[in-house]
Amino acid sequence: MVTHLGPSSCPRLVVKIGSSLLVDRDGQVRRAWLETVVADIAARRAAGQQIIIVSSGAIALGARRLGLAKGGRASLEDAQAAAATGQIALSQCWADLLAARDMTAAQILVTLDDLEDRRRYLNAAATLERLLGLGVVPVINENDSVATAEIRFGDNDRLAARIAQAASAQAVVLLSDVDGLYTADPARDPKAERIAEVARIDARIRAMAASESSSGMGSGGMASKIEAARIANAAGAALAIVSGLHAHPLDRLGQGNCGTIFRSQSTTPARKAWLAGRLTAKGRIHVDAGAAKALTGGASLLPAGATQVEGRFARGDVIDICGPDGAIIARGLAEYDAAEAQRICGQRSAALPDLLGYAPRAALIHRDHMVLL
Ligand code: GLU
Repeated sequence: MVTHLGPSSCPRLVVKIGSSLLVDRDGQVRRAWLETVVADIAARRAAGQQIIIVSSGAIALGARRLGLAKGGRASLEDAQAAAATGQIALSQCWADLLAARDMTAAQILVTLDDLEDRRRYLNAAATLERLLGLGVVPVINENDSVATAEIRFGDNDRLAARIAQAASAQAVVLLSDVDGLYTADPARDPKAERIAEVARIDARIRAMAASESSSGMGSGGMASKIEAARIANAAGAALAIVSGLHAHPLDRLGQGNCGTIFRSQSTTPARKAWLAGRLTAKGRIHVDAGAAKALTGGASLLPAGATQVEGRFARGDVIDICGPDGAIIARGLAEYDAAEAQRICGQRSAALPDLLGYAPRAALIHRDHMVLL
């Protein structure tokens, strides 16, 4: 059963609202419903909970105003124009609704890069901290109008998880058009059952996640929600997927017996959690079975265990480590650039000084700068 994620267990909560809940089929804000969400937020804040809103809906709103086909998602250019147009209406809407209940809204638009770069990530974290300290409600969206195809979140599920991490929130709620994760697609299979709680995201859980969003309006399907849960859980935050098809959805969440909650088992330090939550890597190192086992046991990655080096990376860049079957098993900061890593790949420690021409570092990736996935 979903516990209520109230202020005592969760002093800081991120609430993500998807496009299909915010905007109706005619491209208008679903204001009456949104007022019930804001009423819930006001009640939670009065009870001492800090709230960060991650709001989608810019593309859907803008598409309508510009008369664009396919909800503004026919091309990246359309999506960017729609986002730029819709965002201004979206922020106005949040500012009005929050003000009506004596809350001050603050808008932050972020790109993927803002959170992937450690220094910018820390800046964003400091801004959030200050806003929350000032009693403001941050309203966040992706800066869709400047992001390019390859370097965007594209869905606000993972963005919300990343924000929870930056803000050290204890939980994320994804308000969605589905009431959590089901054993099969509930629209097609009458025997589909809701999973109330997930303690570990494994292959079975991933297999249950259908990849398409049922509304077709937003871009986050169940797969991106599971990925968001992974990022949040790695950062020590729980993540709940609950239906937003009801009025007062946060109040309903508080009463329990709805949605799916992914509980975090993680006690990963913040820096490693940031690493685990990164969505991009500059390269990958493949390792043999022995090295894969040693890494799982907490060892650093030594050159002798590496079998192949891919990508162009500099010392300090984030790279993935792949096991013998090609699956990513860990991620870390490279101690060497790609050319050096290539040179010492598969080599025993004794051979390294000659190959490099200088005293080697302790590892290809040190365990202090590595996180298992
Ligand atoms: N950032 C997009 C928007 O505001 C939504 C992304 C998503 O669908 O999750 O329209």
